[in-house]
Amino acid sequence: MPSPYDADTTAPHARPLMTRALTREADRARHLLAGARWRPTAPDTEAATAVLARLTAPLPARQAPTERRLAVARDRRLQRILRTTLHHLDAGAISPPAAALLAAVARALLPWHAHPNPPPAAAAPAHTAAPHPPGRAPTPPTEAGEALLPALIALFTTLAAPPPPGTAPLTPAAEPWHARHEGRFRRYGRPGPGVWTAETVGCPGCGGTTGPWTVVCDWQAITLGCACGTATREHGLAFSEVRLLMPDG
Ligand SMILES: [Zn+2]
Repeated sequence: MPSPYDADTTAPHARPLMTRALTREADRARHLLAGARWRPTAPDTEAATAVLARLTAPLPARQAPTERRLAVARDRRLQRILRTTLHHLDAGAISPPAAALLAAVARALLPWHAHPNPPPAAAAPAHTAAPHPPGRAPTPPTEAGEALLPALIALFTTLAAPPPPGTAPLTPAAEPWHARHEGRFRRYGRPGPGVWTAETVGCPGCGGTTGPWTVVCDWQAITLGCACGTATREHGLAFSEVRLLMPDG
């Protein structure tokens, strides 16, 4: 059987999806939930319900959509999953294990960040440290993205289920991570619909912006350590603005 990445010959620039973190976090979440070691909080359940609605959204069933329209609808569904996931990841209400999981989902679906609908403003977050070469916008591997859906639907159905009566939420620790990052971090704002602002984060000690940074994250807070020895949590960066610049894993 050909790999889903090879099958789509209309996508010559398609790259494999980054699913290492997703495989790990989804396994972990499944085990924790099955063993009742994770009983999601109300915000976790709410986020999972919203993502689940996107995961299970039907494709247009109007009589025989043209091939082109169906292709766009398939990619748009994946893009909506990504955008809803990012929204709840960065809203700051979910628990650490939920944040770790949503960040992994977002990373796997990043190829749909600007496809089929590009972000409405040039300053919108790009979520990548490596811009693609000009004129060669990568085409997302639609089949590979859709292949993730059944397992994600099963997992998010469990996460979204209302807690059994009389049980209190139980939140396990998330796996902390650390990484080194050479380059800038950009903090994005959205002062109005379709309007984005982007600001480069500077070290409060030396004003440097390009690092190398030492990043430490326990999915509650992110600490940025600058080469000058200053460490700060007061950078205003959202999880996606840091995590999605790091390598998959
Ligand atoms: Zn510094």
